[in-house]
Amino acid sequence: MTTLPDARTLVTELVGAQADAWDRSGQLPTPVPKELAAAGLLCAQVPGEYGGLGYTSTHNGELTAHVGALCSSLRSLMTSQGMAAWTVQRMGSAEQRAAHLPRLATGSLAGVAFSEPQAGSDLTAMTTQIRGAGDAVVVDGTKVWVTGAVYADLLVVFGRYDGGAAAVVVPAGAPGVEIRPVRDPLGCRAAGHATVDLRGVRVGTDSVLGGAGLPVDWLVTPALSYGRLSVAWGCVGIIRACLAAACRHARGRQQFGRALAEHQLVARLLAEMVVAEQSATRCCEHASCSWDAGSPELVAATVLAKHLAAGNAATAAAAAVQVLGSAGAHDGSTVARAYRDAKLMEIIEGSNEICQLLLAKHAEAVWS
Ligand code: FAD
Repeated sequence: MTTLPDARTLVTELVGAQADAWDRSGQLPTPVPKELAAAGLLCAQVPGEYGGLGYTSTHNGELTAHVGALCSSLRSLMTSQGMAAWTVQRMGSAEQRAAHLPRLATGSLAGVAFSEPQAGSDLTAMTTQIRGAGDAVVVDGTKVWVTGAVYADLLVVFGRYDGGAAAVVVPAGAPGVEIRPVRDPLGCRAAGHATVDLRGVRVGTDSVLGGAGLPVDWLVTPALSYGRLSVAWGCVGIIRACLAAACRHARGRQQFGRALAEHQLVARLLAEMVVAEQSATRCCEHASCSWDAGSPELVAATVLAKHLAAGNAATAAAAAVQVLGSAGAHDGSTVARAYRDAKLMEIIEGSNEICQLLLAKHAEAVWS
């Protein structure tokens, strides 16, 4: 059993000072995600009975923040792997949990495919078809921006099925699966995003997870809740990395005869970053406590955590670039990478606007 302190040490040693080089090359060295996956750290909440580490959401969140502070691309793989595992855990039968969770907890890498060219924020518009064909199902469709697909051994694909929707586990190497990497993404450049074409892909009916036939938005909610909380903790990590870089620079560099940190307008940026870190951390802790307690507040708490943490990360990363000035204005700078990565966090797992709409609905239900 890898404890949280041991897990942090392993990640720190594996990533070292390589995140900027991975970002520039657009690739993670395959052994890095493989080693973390083999140690169960990419989906650390998988229960011990399935070979997982059985972390609480709070412990997994702190680990996610640690990974996010070092490398958002690697953290993105952690989010996808955890979403895949949670979907199997929530939707799978006992046999499906026993078949897939041990693989995910011990080394197989997974991507989760919801989005399509015409179904982004509105997943109810998805058109991917999962059709019964005797003792098999056949999957046809195109998924876009599937994080980690380039490294994946298996994909959890959502599509239309039998009047509703279903999630199906598809080997990434199955005949009919084509994975085309997204070229030059704005951020998380080494996260292996890809367009995935599925053309007549045949898998056994036992690959269709339970819950099949549910409305799309019901089916995707568990995976999205996991993903939102994971992204939120990753954003806490981004803010912490930015705070550390900005404070180091503001103390070390002098202008007008004084350290930058002694200029009050620079000090204000640092103070705002502290507020961003603390408020995002507290929101994530609340959401993780709701998760660990099985509280009905969970869904709203994860939306709130994701929305607040993503916005705070984008603002804090912009502030960090400002504090570093030209020293933070080039590829290879941690804060420049954070600035690009953080912007994407305002788009994925429910954009700012979609989170606001969900929070407004929640407010109407609770406050009217
Ligand atoms: P659109 O839905 O077209 O939205 C464009 C803009 O319009 C956004 O600002 C949005 O907020 C706004 N908008 C849309 N509807 C409304 C509304 N009703 N009211 C107000 N504003 C609205 N998908 C996967 O399936 N798996 C993955 O692993 C995955 N990883 C990703 C990783 C990255 C880095 C990125 C960029 C995307 C990823 N995606 C993934 C896709 C992601 O989920 C979508 O990009 C996201 O849902 C937004 O959809 P869209 O890009 O099509 O934007």
